[in-house]
Amino acid sequence: MLIHKINTGFFLAVIAFLVAYSVFDPLSWWVYLIPLALWFIITGLGSAFVQWGYHVKSLNRGEKSGNKIAITFDDGPTSETIKVLELLSKYDAKATFFCIGKQIEKHPDIFKQIIDGGHIVGNHTFNHLPEMGFYSTDKILAEIVKTDELVSRNGLQLKLFRPPYGVTNPNMAKALKRTGHAVIGWNIRSLDTVINDENHILKRITTRLAPGSIILLHDTSQKTVNVLEQLLILLKEQNLKAVAVNELLNIPAYEE
Ligand SMILES: [Zn+2]
Repeated sequence: MLIHKINTGFFLAVIAFLVAYSVFDPLSWWVYLIPLALWFIITGLGSAFVQWGYHVKSLNRGEKSGNKIAITFDDGPTSETIKVLELLSKYDAKATFFCIGKQIEKHPDIFKQIIDGGHIVGNHTFNHLPEMGFYSTDKILAEIVKTDELVSRNGLQLKLFRPPYGVTNPNMAKALKRTGHAVIGWNIRSLDTVINDENHILKRITTRLAPGSIILLHDTSQKTVNVLEQLLILLKEQNLKAVAVNELLNIPAYEE
């Protein structure tokens, strides 16, 4: 609850000031609605964009010096992941996969292939529920821990977490304080699940691309596989190296 606390404190102070002022010069009731509405708008936007660091501190990019960038894939493993892994191997690139627990249960062999390929895996909750923004701390905690426990059977204690849809709230902040995961955001959202035109998706990435970038993609469609190959060719041309986020950010990916 970083910026959230400052925001709430500020608007409470504004309302307190208005109340004090109204003792001397009565104000209309709607004057109080202005700071209240602003608080709601800022809190709503802050909850929707993890990279703001509104409720939880998130890591959104690496060092601008050097030639490293990180490609991240959310929502797998799926059957498309195999093609993603083949391309990464072909172009000698490493990536980070934020996996959904129930998808790991569905595709345990593909999940193992990710790890065997030298890539990094992170926690993306067990069910990836859109309504998680309204969950209690305990329910969010259960969603995170269930995936951690599943992966620990592969001998890995996950340290990295990415919130579904990039949505955070005070309860998620409390849950993450208990689990101790580092929250990984992004600074390039490809919108590969929303946009249909592959060239458009690629352009969204390449116009923003710079050393230190963290790119958000999804290993869930052939469209993204096609975009990935074009991106990997371009990285080679620009002498940029795709590494896993732990290397880009110089943090541990797993509990030792
Ligand atoms: Zn997701």
